[in-house]
Amino acid sequence: MKRKITSLFVWAAALFTVVSGYAQHQDHGYFQCGTDQQQAKAFAENPQLKADWEAREAQEILRDQQDFANNYGRNERNSVSVQSPPTYIIPVVFHVIHDYGTENISDAQILDQMRILNEDFRKLNADTSSIVSQFVGIADDAEIEFRLANLDPNGNCTNGIDRIASMETYIGDDGSKLNAWPRNRYLNVWVVRTISNGAAGYAYLPGGAPTAAVDGIIIVSTYVGSIGSGNPTTGRALTHEIGHFLNLQHCWGSTNNPNVACGNDGVSDTPVTKGWTSCNLTNNAICNANISENVQNFMDYSYCYRMFSAGQCTRMRAALNNSAGQRNQLSTTTTHTATGILNNPPNTCAPKADFTPVDKRFVCEGGSVTFSDLAWNGPVTSWSWQFPGGSPSTSTSATPTVQYNTAGSYAVTLTVANAAGSNSITRAAHVVVSPITAQYSASPYTEGFESATNVTQDWVIINPQGNGWVRSTSAAATGSASMRLDNTTAMLGTIDEMMSPSLNLSAIGASSMTFKVAYAQRQTGDADKLRVLVSTDCGATWSQRYSKTGATLSTATATTAAYVPTAAQWRTETVTFTSAMQSAANVRVKFEFTSDGGNDIWIDDINLNAPTSVNAPEAGVNEFSVFPNPTNDNTMIAFNLEKQENFQIRVVDMTGREILNVFNGSMAAGNHQIPLNVNILSAGTYFIRVEMNDGRAVTQKLLVQ
Ligand SMILES: [Zn+2]
Repeated sequence: MKRKITSLFVWAAALFTVVSGYAQHQDHGYFQCGTDQQQAKAFAENPQLKADWEAREAQEILRDQQDFANNYGRNERNSVSVQSPPTYIIPVVFHVIHDYGTENISDAQILDQMRILNEDFRKLNADTSSIVSQFVGIADDAEIEFRLANLDPNGNCTNGIDRIASMETYIGDDGSKLNAWPRNRYLNVWVVRTISNGAAGYAYLPGGAPTAAVDGIIIVSTYVGSIGSGNPTTGRALTHEIGHFLNLQHCWGSTNNPNVACGNDGVSDTPVTKGWTSCNLTNNAICNANISENVQNFMDYSYCYRMFSAGQCTRMRAALNNSAGQRNQLSTTTTHTATGILNNPPNTCAPKADFTPVDKRFVCEGGSVTFSDLAWNGPVTSWSWQFPGGSPSTSTSATPTVQYNTAGSYAVTLTVANAAGSNSITRAAHVVVSPITAQYSASPYTEGFESATNVTQDWVIINPQGNGWVRSTSAAATGSASMRLDNTTAMLGTIDEMMSPSLNLSAIGASSMTFKVAYAQRQTGDADKLRVLVSTDCGATWSQRYSKTGATLSTATATTAAYVPTAAQWRTETVTFTSAMQSAANVRVKFEFTSDGGNDIWIDDINLNAPTSVNAPEAGVNEFSVFPNPTNDNTMIAFNLEKQENFQIRVVDMTGREILNVFNGSMAAGNHQIPLNVNILSAGTYFIRVEMNDGRAVTQKLLVQ
């Protein structure tokens, strides 16, 4: 389980002049680093951490000034035992946290990122040639290199790329830093799809991480490397973040956003600056007249960064000689041996098995599923698939296509191997095959979840993490049971689904479905979302027919106690079907809940009922129906006009007295639907009258509960 951090804006407001929307890197068009915010948060939560850092920083500034006076002598290099002087070599592990999407970046994209790092930190990057004359003299080689680990913390073979399937990829923060490897042996880099505060990445300064297990760098997948989903500009973001990891601040200091106030970074040879969000190489003496600011520095936001200064390089090497954050153990002989980075070339590891369906895993009888091998950690030389219930039932292809002819749920097993070893994975109930002939075809179709057997046999329930959808007898709109989603155990961002049995809508004759919902937020602002989607192709593709979020979805006030609805807290919802859905013989309806850490949601009384339809050609109106009916909440008035008409729609009571005028005007020929909320009507019997201006009329009865 993971809860939201509600104090996010409290610390920010207390410590900084925060520019509204700082975190929305997508909106600014430039790289947004979250290090200052994240570091300030850690300091605010642990004042001792801050005091220790400030004491070290004071020493560091003194040392920098002495180095500056000595023209950046590199004496510190002689004071530490490194494996292969003069270069510091740091073992790296990338943990790719993914949900089988584009964030599961390729090994090649990560190797490309390693190339960029090793160029940038050795001043081998080709664009050093365009460093402007003012800074050619101070641009320096950091003498730091990076190698992907070849041994994991247990001494097992690794290619330095660890892949973990988790919804954490959508909400990247310290809680997403899964499977941290010891920080004294590895630089941990976590790759995610998005970072929860909107930043592109963030690091902790040496000694600044709240715990050792979150020390390292988290970065959005599109900011890794220059190929694949990366690009040459954003591919420098990790250079910047490793700068922070090795004790560099932003060029303008660490107390505000760029472009706010002139500041300095504690490094003597980088001029005082406000920071840059554009590449201004000619008129950049802003803070001090005649002193050009180092727009091309990796620690600025200019997007034309291509250098560290000599003072920054010395500062980073000093960090690698300081015990703060155990950085001084990252480049020792012990570390190099333990992580296998001196293996040249690196050992080839046995692959770890993983796979995904290329586009779908829900099919109709006779449908096919194509699987894609996603093995990692080593090259694959042989594949062995098992497809119980499928044809073929085995395969040695990397991307087999399998046909499923009989309704049911089926497991898939993949074994991958190379000369170094093999690995297997099995996914139970991975392929769901729907019958060609729908399970239900009589009107009405209702499901009150009273029968546990019905739920098990009819409904496909997909709860990826936590308890998800479970049948409950703790509350019900009617009867004694309903479906509850246990949101307390759901990780933020988790999508839980429950899918109806297959329904022959053309036979049922329903143009809509009603259901009852009860939901409470945990705190005002929780944005849990319920969607209802409809598939006419056995679940391969879905169309949204209903979506409500947060307060709109709520039927009760927010509460932190586990939410159990009272009888009065159920609301009837109506989902209408398109005409294509109404004429389909095999339809699935899916309830999909996306957790935002709010409270539980409950579903009951699903009802697909053919509305009583009236044809009144003498009145120019056909297919006139009111559904759901009876109702206690919303209903829909549907009708077809033979030609354009001027008319009104009124709700009248048993005595003919007008209660509501729903519509008065003109409409074109064709099908129309008008929603009617009956909340203001007391329970009883009413009539809906469609009356043309010339007196022709047609009436339907409406029961309000
Ligand atoms: Zn930064």
